[in-house]
Amino acid sequence: MSNEHAPKKQYYRKNVPLFRLIQKVKLWPSRRGILHGVKSFKVRGPFAELVTHCDQRMVIRNSRNSRAARWLRNKWVFEKCAQCRIPAWKIRKFEATVFAEHWGSDLTEMEKGE
Ligand SMILES: [Zn+2]
Repeated sequence: MSNEHAPKKQYYRKNVPLFRLIQKVKLWPSRRGILHGVKSFKVRGPFAELVTHCDQRMVIRNSRNSRAARWLRNKWVFEKCAQCRIPAWKIRKFEATVFAEHWGSDLTEMEKGE
């Protein structure tokens, strides 16, 4: 495959809040190591209701140190959900994301169109 549309590297702080990270990457790593696409994500205070494209619904807590936050930061994902059909560009964008200790966006500011 051609690499000419390789996404620009995005730098995020390692300690970005989980909810912001999910809103940004629209991906969710399940406990079994499967990466799902996020269809809807509604924040309700310290919790959020997340629905994947394969229609799994769950309530998650906003934690920088949760399993999901660590897995996303470290990209510990073994498989992609076949039902979610995550577009390749989204995976490439995620793979181009670098989590850095001392610099990068902390995602505290909302961007246009969010
Ligand atoms: Zn899925």
